[in-house]
Amino acid sequence: MSQPDCIFCKIYRGELPATVVNRAEGFLAIEDINPKADVHVLVIPERHIDTFGDIGELSEGEAKRMLDFVAETAKAADLDEYRLMIFCGAGAGQTVFHLHWHILGGRFRGLPK
Ligand code: AMP
Ligand code: ZN
Repeated sequence: MSQPDCIFCKIYRGELPATVVNRAEGFLAIEDINPKADVHVLVIPERHIDTFGDIGELSEGEAKRMLDFVAETAKAADLDEYRLMIFCGAGAGQTVFHLHWHILGGRFRGLPK
């Protein structure tokens, strides 16, 4: 489940520093280290799945709780208007292979690359 060398697993385990903006059982939200919008938050589930393509590995309950957590995190960041993005696969721009959502609010400065 938790991968020893995955940077988001390490952040989840507290082994790498991050600015945590929200937390719930099984989920963490942190500020992106290289923000591409005024507000750029990453939502990271505790459970390591490589890409959105593996979403079937989550139970219906986990998937629903993840979506609720994304919406709660946007609200907690004082956003009522925002973009949600997921990059699935290296060719689509994914660089960290642990499923995560980008929440982008305010002024948008281009794709989070
Ligand atoms: P993606 O291209 O969808 O895989 O997005 C990975 C995102 O993680 C990029 O926006 C990076 O800026 C961000 N990122 C990489 N390392 C860290 C880190 N240690 N703390 C916070 N954000 C990070
Ligand atoms: Zn991971």
